[in-house]
Amino acid sequence: MADYQVPLKDMSFVLFDVFKADELWQTLPALAENVDRETADAILQECAKIAEQEIAPLSRQGDETGVSFDNGKVTTAPGYKEAFNTYVEGGWPSLGGSTEYGGMGMPKVITAFHEEMLCSADIAFSLYPGLSAGAALSIVKHASEDLKQRYLTRMYAGEWNGSMCLTESHAGTDLGMIRTKAIPQEDGSYKVTGNKIFITAGEHDLTENIVHLVLAKLPDAPAGPRGISLFIVPKYKVNDDESIGDFNHVSCGSIEHKMGINASATCVMNFDDSEGYLVGEVNKGLNCMFTMMNFERIGVGIQGIGAAVRSYQNALEYAKDRLQSRSATGIKSPEKAADSIMVHGDVRRMLLNMKALNEGSRALSTYISMQLDISTYGEGEQKEKADSLVALMTPLAKAFFTDMGFESTVAGQQVFGGHGYIREWGQEQLVRDCRIAQIYEGTNGIQAMDLLARKVAGSKGALMQSFLDEVNTYIAESTSDNMNEFITPLTQAVTDLADLTKHLLTVSADNANELGASANDYLHVFGYTAMAFVWAKMAEVALDKQDCGDDFYQSKIHTARYYFARLLPRRHSLIASAKSGCETLFDIEDDMF
Ligand SMILES: Cc1cc2nc3c(=O)[nH]c(=O)nc-3n(C[C@H](O)[C@H](O)[C@H](O)COP(=O)(O)OP(=O)(O)OC[C@H]3O[C@@H](n4cnc5c(N)ncnc54)[C@H](O)[C@@H]3O)c2cc1C
Repeated sequence: MADYQVPLKDMSFVLFDVFKADELWQTLPALAENVDRETADAILQECAKIAEQEIAPLSRQGDETGVSFDNGKVTTAPGYKEAFNTYVEGGWPSLGGSTEYGGMGMPKVITAFHEEMLCSADIAFSLYPGLSAGAALSIVKHASEDLKQRYLTRMYAGEWNGSMCLTESHAGTDLGMIRTKAIPQEDGSYKVTGNKIFITAGEHDLTENIVHLVLAKLPDAPAGPRGISLFIVPKYKVNDDESIGDFNHVSCGSIEHKMGINASATCVMNFDDSEGYLVGEVNKGLNCMFTMMNFERIGVGIQGIGAAVRSYQNALEYAKDRLQSRSATGIKSPEKAADSIMVHGDVRRMLLNMKALNEGSRALSTYISMQLDISTYGEGEQKEKADSLVALMTPLAKAFFTDMGFESTVAGQQVFGGHGYIREWGQEQLVRDCRIAQIYEGTNGIQAMDLLARKVAGSKGALMQSFLDEVNTYIAESTSDNMNEFITPLTQAVTDLADLTKHLLTVSADNANELGASANDYLHVFGYTAMAFVWAKMAEVALDKQDCGDDFYQSKIHTARYYFARLLPRRHSLIASAKSGCETLFDIEDDMF
């Protein structure tokens, strides 16, 4: 496997040349005092070092050895604890944390790149700090001041780690059915009892305490999702002097043996009259949890990007070295027994698909992260618009980046031929590790329904209109002739997306099954169109800089052309499928399947 190299130049290009994040930071007082371009560059460079040197080398061994379980005790793979300690010593768990409780207060655009680096290095490792950052975010937004003081500083310091305990064996997507109980106590705490499954980082040996965020129901709670409350349930209680107290009867019953991310502990967690503390209001737990889930959803999307980037780097290095057959247009390397497989159209197709999707996903993820920053730190109309775009694009980020990421890991494996299927080269691990990202944190099918039914139909199209307006304004302001090759197809794509949205809103008014039948296609039409928007923006900057003598910009222009010629047209078949109606799915009786 090629050594992982963080694409710092592309990150800097997207961040500063395309989206001018540094100019935005100056306009948002809470960010202006924390971050500028120099700070951001220094952070990304330091993060690149730890990802390349400390974490990436662990990935193979982590996959081979996995996590071990013995009588309730979970031991992480060799080297994990040392690497985690180095990660903590570098202060990385506090990167995006609230400055009031010891966090560094970095914007999402910076933490998103940090997540991408970690995921390219090793998704399994990235999940331990990733879950903790999401849990801390929910505590910042919804917990009492006392709970924040007690837990956040230690979590940001990396002394304690977080987990997210939602899923039960009979309740995955449908969390309204959870059975975990929380009984109120006289001192204001709760006794939490129940069993959770599939809990990432539920138990491990990396930190002295684990802070579980647990969904449970009070005895008199209404049925369904409106009766869910959220609790902090630590593995060890915390004494008044903030030292570690008694064991809180939170135990790991077993760990799962999985297809991938073998070094991530996926635990069955048992809570047995464990002391818990309410976060937010009773029966409003799902709202609080959504803070964490939205954060994690963008994070899971970035897992797809991370795996895909690593797959591309490996495949490119391999393709340049691998000699097989001769070029269709005549021998290219007469001194060698064969030409490199780079001469073959099909190999170039796979590599360019990966390159265009990866760079497009990184740019789109940066755009969405910037909207999240404006939504968090901005005000007035600017904030309202960003709120709409974040709501609309969070399910897109989760599902589209992981679908494209999985496609890219498979393409990278394919470039290796048979060598991609055997373990030695590491390509098959990327396919296995990436696959879960399409499933957890709400399956991609659920993300598609969240987008189309909840966000688009639920707002009668208003949320989608905020995106369409954004792109149409960009198109209207783009007057340079040399951008026509991008602006013309982008205009058509946005028009078609608007038309498809209108069509689905109309037909679903008569038959609600239309939404479920077309949600996946719709999400992908939106994804390819949104990606065309950011590819046009990247091409515009690259065209301006193309004469500076740096091949980076020529490469961008070529890749943009490839995207518009060969990937954006995928939307045509998706639109035809989405408009074909739901009858072909529902006319067939269940027993005819
Ligand atoms: C490795 C791993 C790590 C995980 N980590 C965590 C964790 O840290 N914390 C946690 O709480 N959970 C975790 N999970 C659980 C994960 O989030 C769930 O598996 C996932 O949300 C799906 O739930 P389910 O498996 O019960 O599938 P189900 O809900 O049973 O879904 C089965 C199928 O039906 C579809 N479906 C269900 N309902 C609908 C609907 N309304 N509309 C359309 N389609 C529908 C789904 O898309 C899916 O294709 C993890 C799972 C795994 C495998």
